[in-house]
Amino acid sequence: ANARNFSGGPGALPETVLLQLKEAMIAVPEVGLSVLGISHRSDWFAAVVAEVEARLKALLALPPDFHVLLLQGGGTLQFAMVPLALARGADVPAEYLHTGYWSGKAIAEARKVAPVRVVWSGEAEGFCRLPDDDELVFDPRAPYLHVVTNETVEGLQFHRLVGLEEVPQVADMSSDFLSRPFDAGRYALIYAHAQKNLGPAGVTVVLVREAVLERAPEGLPAMLDYRAQAAAHSILNTPPVFAIYAVLLVLRWLMDEIGGLEAMAAINRAKAERLYGVLDASDGFYRPRARREDRSLMNVVFDLPSEALRAAFLDEAKRAGFSGLAGHRALGGIRASLYNAVTLEAVEALADFMETFRRRH
Ligand code: PMP
Repeated sequence: ANARNFSGGPGALPETVLLQLKEAMIAVPEVGLSVLGISHRSDWFAAVVAEVEARLKALLALPPDFHVLLLQGGGTLQFAMVPLALARGADVPAEYLHTGYWSGKAIAEARKVAPVRVVWSGEAEGFCRLPDDDELVFDPRAPYLHVVTNETVEGLQFHRLVGLEEVPQVADMSSDFLSRPFDAGRYALIYAHAQKNLGPAGVTVVLVREAVLERAPEGLPAMLDYRAQAAAHSILNTPPVFAIYAVLLVLRWLMDEIGGLEAMAAINRAKAERLYGVLDASDGFYRPRARREDRSLMNVVFDLPSEALRAAFLDEAKRAGFSGLAGHRALGGIRASLYNAVTLEAVEALADFMETFRRRH
């Protein structure tokens, strides 16, 4: 059943990683203890954190002024930590693109902390597309621009960079981090919770530049303070050892078995092309939600002509062994999430199922 898991998150993890985690639950081979009972102050865990940092730096060719932080509180805590560090007390509002459900959450949290300006909102159109360049007028004095690179709920993904060179850019990459190469040098801060492409929930990767730490205000509670977190090398308090170990295993898989981000991106493209191909060839039976050029390669969101057909689709899919296909509760419809660990074979199987379903209905 794991092989046909299209969940929007927590998402599928690679089978080889699950098998190693199963073993580690009883005893990590190098240590002889359960991963759930090893001290975060052990040499073993220090080596785990060091390897996670080194692998992320290598995979993304991170410029040397980036810190790699492994934090708790998920994407949601980053919605607050970012404005706390970068915009509290600023004269000019922080700028946000309101491209879907999750950027909406980020904006609402930021507003509690700092002045915010929404540069563009897709809400009135129902979040079915991303902005075009000529709709975006940015303020060069803004403390930062916040972008969600992939809107998980609506299935919208940026396939280009936006924003001004001179304004620090912050990206929520929770649902497409490590799915493709990107130019990390263009960002001041990147965050991604683990539970899509990286591992289980409980840990969030934050890549943050030294200059952001220098600008951060004094006196923040330590857990909310990037500077304190960086100084403690992600062990400010007891970290989620299990989740971080799982991230390490996923990074090893991605680099050593898949072959890195270019290879991963090629697989992800093939998966998305196969599924969107079925939607496009269905004569309007399957209704893709996103505008073509903004389609997400991670979350394929669509609907069927009627409530009854949607229910039949979900029911038959479930009986065929597919899971996680119901759309987000805020939106309904169908969502097939094609995170890194979802194989091309699984997508082929889903595509075949969908073609057959359409013929029968
Ligand atoms: N950002 C994005 C893009 C997400 O998809 C999600 C949740 N799926 C979040 C933030 C919130 O993350 P969390 O549940 O870890 O707080």
